[in-house]
Amino acid sequence: MTYNVTSEKAEAFINHSEIENTLAYAEAHKHDRQLVEHILEKAAQHKGLSHREAAILLACEESDLTQRIFDLAKEIKQKFYGNRIVMFAPLYLSNYCVNGCTYCPYHAKNKSISRKKLSQTEIEKEVIALQDMGHKRLALEAGEHPQHAPIDYILESIETIYSIKHKNGAIRRVNVNIAATTVENYRKLKEAGIGTYILFQETYHKENYEALHPTGPKSNYAYHTEAMDRAMEGGIDDVGIGVLFGLNTYKYDFVGLMMHAEHLEARFGVGPHTISVPRICPADDIETTDFPNAISDAIFKRIVAVTRIAVPYTGIIISTRESEKSRKEVLEIGVSQISGGSKTSVGGYAEPTPDAENSAQFDISDQRTLDEIVSWLLDLGHVPSFCTACYRMGRTGDRFMSLIKSGQIANCCAPNSLITLKEYLMDYASDNTRSKAVKMIEQEVEKIPNPKVKEIAKRNLQEIAEGKRDFRF
Ligand code: SF4
Ligand code: SF4
Repeated sequence: MTYNVTSEKAEAFINHSEIENTLAYAEAHKHDRQLVEHILEKAAQHKGLSHREAAILLACEESDLTQRIFDLAKEIKQKFYGNRIVMFAPLYLSNYCVNGCTYCPYHAKNKSISRKKLSQTEIEKEVIALQDMGHKRLALEAGEHPQHAPIDYILESIETIYSIKHKNGAIRRVNVNIAATTVENYRKLKEAGIGTYILFQETYHKENYEALHPTGPKSNYAYHTEAMDRAMEGGIDDVGIGVLFGLNTYKYDFVGLMMHAEHLEARFGVGPHTISVPRICPADDIETTDFPNAISDAIFKRIVAVTRIAVPYTGIIISTRESEKSRKEVLEIGVSQISGGSKTSVGGYAEPTPDAENSAQFDISDQRTLDEIVSWLLDLGHVPSFCTACYRMGRTGDRFMSLIKSGQIANCCAPNSLITLKEYLMDYASDNTRSKAVKMIEQEVEKIPNPKVKEIAKRNLQEIAEGKRDFRF
């Protein structure tokens, strides 16, 4: 099959020969200073790069040029996202799984892990625990299982989550990370009011993909790779892509990721809403030594920076797999969303029992509570944001993309971050975090450039202090 960015076929839009040729081209030109500088000049216009150009930046090893890559990534992050960092938490519904993914402890043959599926009453308890931490945005996670986690169970769970209002708490946006499914099921998810549909490709390398997924429906590379096309056809216009770095060579998967973004933009006029950059880490029954392609912190940082430059309009997400140190570095140069106070077990928030811990998908490197992470972000000069405004205001798909590409979304992100941070400090923050947040809000509200927006934001902040909630731009 030949490369075709708008094709419906996985092996045409993620074309193996095109990736190999791109990697060979990048290897041959990585010392070509003039070319790298030319690409950096193009990237400085903040309109993104092609997968070939991005591959050259990823391969470039000159230290001064690498510094320019990091500086540009920082500049782009600041322009499109400002200093807000959106917070979310994963919620694991069920870890029953029929697939055989060799890197995941939920794989069907693992007998040493506790299997659990939350009932609606248990979901309610989890959601209350998450609301009591201050979370407003969740990412639902579930293994693939036709009996234990059919689509109706997922839909019922979403309804339960949105219905729970505990004290001033509310989950206002539910993103969903479930197995590749049909157009009809994607339509149902859209109707249930989900935010982003997230599905990781794991690796774009077909042969390795098949070796890593020996059994179960996920072993069908084309069906998995074409999932976002079906999601778009089902009306979900915010999709989140990602690979699990370390399963395959990072350069190959990085190019695949860029080509997937180009494909969605070319075929649907809307690129990915988010890109997640998880990397392989230890877990029950999984040794990282089994994965010789596991990447270092330095390479991880470079991947984040080049992604930021190549697709400026796409949010970048990291999880608590990352250590505090690694998170700090990548927040500056590109990451716009992080999880906080996360549990990767089924039922881990309400009752963190040993049984629940034994149902975890991966080990968490950053063990801090949400309040500690909020406090730390404030110390670093970021504004922790619990904003969920866009999809609730109908800013999804191409509407969202035109706002972010023009840089206008920052006019919403900044006041929304302050308003939602104010809610957090009123309802959930420790004294220490509260006093830092108060200072941050006072300082940042004055920086809002539009006088009308500034005036409304100040009024909203006052009204939140008086007990009102849920304002948004
Ligand atoms: Fe199941 Fe997903 Fe784990 Fe694979 S990665 S075993 S599909 S839960
Ligand atoms: Fe995200 Fe939209 Fe809120 Fe900005 S305004 S933080 S893009 S939901």
